Amino acid sequence: MAAQETVEHKYVYDFAEGNKDLKDLLGGKGANLAEMTNLGLPVPPGFTITTEACKAYLTTGREPDGLAAQIEAHLESLEREMGRRLGDPQDPLLVSVRSGAKFSMPGMMETVLNVGLNDRSVVGLSAQAGGNDRFAWDSYRRLIQMFGKTVCEVPGEEFEHALDEAKRAKGTQNDLDLDADDLRGLVDAYKKIFAKHTGREFPQEPREQLDLAIRAVFESWNAERAVVYRRQERIPADLGTAVNVVAMVFGNLGADSGTGVAFTRDPGSGAQGIYGDYLANAQGEDVVAGIRNTVPLQELEQIDKKSYDELLDYMARLEEHYKDLCDIEFTIERGKLWMLQTRVGKRTAAAAFVIAGQLVDEGLIDLDEALHRVNGAQLAQLMFPRFRLDHEFQPVAKGIGASPGAASGKVVFTSARAVELAAEGESVILVRRETNPDDLNGMIAAKGILTSRGGKTSHAAVVARGMGKTCVSGADELDVNVPAKKFIVAGQTVTEGDIVSIDGTTGKVYLGEVPVMPSEVVQYFEGSLDPEHIDNPLVRAVHRIMTHADAKRRLLVRTNADTGADAARARRFGAEGIGLCRTEHMFLGDRRELVERLILASTGEEREAALGALLPLQREDFIEIFREMDGLPVTVRLIDPPLHEFLPPLEQLAVNVAVAQERGEDVAKEEALLAAVRRMHEENPMLGLRGVRLGLVIPGLFAMQVRAIAEAAVEVTRSGGTACPEIMVPLVGAVQELETVRAEAEKIIAEVVGDSGVEVLIGTMIEVPRAALTAGQIAEAAQFFSFGTNDLTQMGWGFSRDDVEGAFFWRYLELGIFGISPFESIDREGVGRLVRIAAEEGRAARPGLKLGVCGEHGGDPDSVHFFHEVGLDYVSCSPFRVPVARLEAGRAAITTTGSDSR
Ligand code: PEP
Ligand code: MG
Repeated sequence: MAAQETVEHKYVYDFAEGNKDLKDLLGGKGANLAEMTNLGLPVPPGFTITTEACKAYLTTGREPDGLAAQIEAHLESLEREMGRRLGDPQDPLLVSVRSGAKFSMPGMMETVLNVGLNDRSVVGLSAQAGGNDRFAWDSYRRLIQMFGKTVCEVPGEEFEHALDEAKRAKGTQNDLDLDADDLRGLVDAYKKIFAKHTGREFPQEPREQLDLAIRAVFESWNAERAVVYRRQERIPADLGTAVNVVAMVFGNLGADSGTGVAFTRDPGSGAQGIYGDYLANAQGEDVVAGIRNTVPLQELEQIDKKSYDELLDYMARLEEHYKDLCDIEFTIERGKLWMLQTRVGKRTAAAAFVIAGQLVDEGLIDLDEALHRVNGAQLAQLMFPRFRLDHEFQPVAKGIGASPGAASGKVVFTSARAVELAAEGESVILVRRETNPDDLNGMIAAKGILTSRGGKTSHAAVVARGMGKTCVSGADELDVNVPAKKFIVAGQTVTEGDIVSIDGTTGKVYLGEVPVMPSEVVQYFEGSLDPEHIDNPLVRAVHRIMTHADAKRRLLVRTNADTGADAARARRFGAEGIGLCRTEHMFLGDRRELVERLILASTGEEREAALGALLPLQREDFIEIFREMDGLPVTVRLIDPPLHEFLPPLEQLAVNVAVAQERGEDVAKEEALLAAVRRMHEENPMLGLRGVRLGLVIPGLFAMQVRAIAEAAVEVTRSGGTACPEIMVPLVGAVQELETVRAEAEKIIAEVVGDSGVEVLIGTMIEVPRAALTAGQIAEAAQFFSFGTNDLTQMGWGFSRDDVEGAFFWRYLELGIFGISPFESIDREGVGRLVRIAAEEGRAARPGLKLGVCGEHGGDPDSVHFFHEVGLDYVSCSPFRVPVARLEAGRAAITTTGSDSR
């Protein structure tokens, strides 16, 4: 029995027992309160009930065995330390009961203050406060209100009404005008409301109040708003919250008391200094509720110099200790400073880079740590153009920054109108309550999308992000009336055609056109800002951290580019080659006619003539690209899409032919084209005649492309450059497909290259699941693999990549089937497993096989870490994403020990 007691699970930790690394168990708030206690800072004493206790409660519906006794023991020791007993009628100890999960979920869960007050201890509290009856009764009415609402689900408005009624009776609008008698009357009214809704009297027993409050905090983990918030922020649902029971201190005891928040650096820009707000004679909730105006923290120096100096000293100590920007909540009770909370503070993307750089300069962290503290999503944010804001522009509403960027344009309310105005060359902002799949065309046409409902995973948000289009969602101050073609915001009516500006990073909405300025970070990457010689702390920090990322990363970063201009830009952004040059654009524009001739050819000669005309054009394209990428590898992919994509759409053609026939015109050519389109029509073109299948079915097509590549490489090399072509065959599913194409290609290459010294590699995309699963065989015929994770995701999940994101992903995200579109971030368990199998089996069959990825995932931060772990040699992404991939590849190298296979 005794032995069993000694191994009893520990559910409660005194602040002196914890530390900042115990966030899983004690939640963020509890772990940091413990850390501050151990640093010797003045934290009101208290204890933390663990997340494990919460999880046990949520699974079984009752407090785990032993919890009640442990709370009792910790409460007794708290009472001893404070020299007061909970709810003692003469001299009561009061406590706050606060939630605190591992990840901050501001305002999502419950807090109850002033626990321990009842009809008798309210008198003792007044005595403690020097006979301040008003304060005591105000505290009591706050307890009944908060307890009633959060613990017993009494509708909050009933309390609000009673308070309004008391103010009306007094002829005032201000709470502070209510005196002790008024508040005593209000307590009576509150108690009646409580009894009416709960069928019982307000609990007078302090320990019962405490237990019920703790239980309410546990349960608030599963409150609807908390569930929704977690889903949006991708916080796991099974963490549970800790509960902190803390001795109350009061900032509302008079002019020598107050409460405030402080930051050790500016969380907006990262600049060093003292930032914060202070509110005299108030409690924390009053600051949040904004009932009175705060003053800048610096003014505390005049109000209470001793507390101010102490606070500055503690802020310096916390920064030194956490080696990071800290944010702090504090209260001053009659000239005595108490630290109520600290945590490593949230910051903007710019501040993250600037602070990381400063901390390196100050010797607090090294460059590895600086690199660890920033991320690709932040860097991407810094690369969007921003609004040039001065005081002239005040936001009229703030929604959720759902898809970054800055966009201005004329307001439209329907998809059709968006398409119409955009066709006239206007910039438009599509404004809706929420969007649905019918709005797709309007979303494509619009510069930006603004909705009054919906969060980060709403239809508007998901689709806009997929399109890289600026979007603000859930701007609920907007009263949108689509049939009347107007919305009302801040008392102003905005009608169709008026101009608005939306900031998809901050979620802010402005009336009128706000000028846009380019990103300094992009200017730096493009080489127009010299990081060593400009006085811009952000650019200097980005330069320093990027240089370190480049030194650390194992993954190379290439780009997806099909033109010389894109290749040049990507190279300036740091691309180390081209990982995917799609050749299909080379069949568009004025070359369509040649492609039509190719498709319509009825004899070998006609076909060869069409191919012969395309060859020099293709060769010129490749020469330009090889020159821009001089000395670096360029992967050219043979044509992939179905050929009918290069012909006019069936319906349009059919109508044209019918009309022309009616008029008696000569339509022989159009009829032939129509017949070809009909012949080539496919129900599932993505699974039809495309990629390697085209090469095997249309004689001479791939051969022409291979010849153009080899000839271009020879030409560039002969003129003093270095071309390093890699020919890539798309959509291979069986090694025989690749072998057939390769045999023909090798013959042409040998003939063209001769003794020029040009080396041409031949490899394949791995983008069909069967290819991944037979990678060992395919590697025998391939000199490299490049994972086409777009198609691999499409075929792995069976999701049409062109349809599903707009059609129903919002619902999948809402249901939590996945937290992010698998087309955006690699699905590690499914599609990622195919990549892993293919990488391992490919390398087993051909040691040193070069591996890369060229699907969209190559520029996604989380996916880059995965590709590092799997041991790929490079990732390839759009030019704009190249810096993001470089940064994340560096971060991956310092945070994991991925295989070093290069
Ligand atoms: C892919 O499928 O991932 C790929 C890069 O090819 P595409 O997007 O052109 O189909
Ligand atoms: Mg593909």
